[in-house]
Amino acid sequence: MASSASAPASGSSDLPHITVLGSLNMDLVSYVSHHPEPGETMASNAFAISPGGKGANQAVACAKLSRSRSAGQDSKADNATATAHVSMVGAVGNDANGAALRANMSRQGVDVDGVQVLDHDGITSGVAIIVVDEPTGQNRIILSPGANYAFAWHEGVAGGGLIPPQTQLLILQLEIPLDLVLRALHEAKALGIPVLLNPAPAPATEEARAKLEAAFAAGKDTKDKGIAHLVLNETESAALVPGLTVSDLDTTEGLSRAAKYFLGLGVENIVMTLGGRGVYYATATTVAQSNGEVGELVPPEKVKQVVDTTGAGDTFAGQYALEAVYASSQGRAFDCEAAVRKSNRASAITVQRKGAQDSIPWLDELE
Ligand code: ADP
Repeated sequence: MASSASAPASGSSDLPHITVLGSLNMDLVSYVSHHPEPGETMASNAFAISPGGKGANQAVACAKLSRSRSAGQDSKADNATATAHVSMVGAVGNDANGAALRANMSRQGVDVDGVQVLDHDGITSGVAIIVVDEPTGQNRIILSPGANYAFAWHEGVAGGGLIPPQTQLLILQLEIPLDLVLRALHEAKALGIPVLLNPAPAPATEEARAKLEAAFAAGKDTKDKGIAHLVLNETESAALVPGLTVSDLDTTEGLSRAAKYFLGLGVENIVMTLGGRGVYYATATTVAQSNGEVGELVPPEKVKQVVDTTGAGDTFAGQYALEAVYASSQGRAFDCEAAVRKSNRASAITVQRKGAQDSIPWLDELE
């Protein structure tokens, strides 16, 4: 964990402003020789407590990738570096995990004023109990969403809305109630704020998938734009595209079919992360100019050894978000391919280290 000094760097008011609306969880991880049988009590080989939650991980990714490791050092080293002020909106319980989650994010440079501490009805902070079978690396996870699903914080954070008005890019995932995500999408559209959606975990029901599809399509064919950036992995792509399986994404045809589906719903930039295969991306502009092939496969960065892929997707989303908000704050056209390449570099560092938030690189490590 970082030193105890609070990070001031991302508070600079002239930086573009990213808001992450999403989950915060404390991960309790036991490493075992086998998954316990019903009724079995066993000792773990090792145990770790670490801050997590997709929302929190992505906020920390934006903040760490915006500043140097040394606390107090302003990260705005030069004008060509994508940096941002990062705010988290979410909720924790009034308990030790909640206090630790907020303090940890703050130390890494995230503004946590929008993280409410709920103190009623015995609400606890979100907890993920993760059991990792060491021989296979397979994990089993029990997620107790607690405050992430508690209703009180849905009533808004700033001026009655969910989104702080100074926000220039809103990042959403699906670890909070879907209706809240849909409300935030609606609010962002009304405010003209671009959205990066990482639809993870993948919607589990057809009803949820259809609701999201309707939300994607809401801006289509109007002067309001749809989702600016959809960043998702293979499982999430297969869950969202009707009739598509994960193995379909092994071929360029399958990738192209998924990309066309999302672009057809009005998504402007579609970015599918493919683990060790890299990334397939397509944009509304490239499809307009193409004669058949809509997207492009970008290879991953070469890594010496993959140690733990936890947090890879969140790191990727964080760096990509920085590139997107920086381009718009500079009044430049967004270069999706350049953003993908830089995000590949950031997440390649993450996969070579253990842990989630701890494995995300700082800006100076990327340089
Ligand atoms: P998620 O964690 O959301 O499932 P992925 O597994 O697709 O996301 O990984 C996200 C990104 O992390 C990839 O697009 C790639 O840039 C990087 N990455 C993942 N695995 C590797 C790997 N084996 N080698 C290099 N980069 C990787």
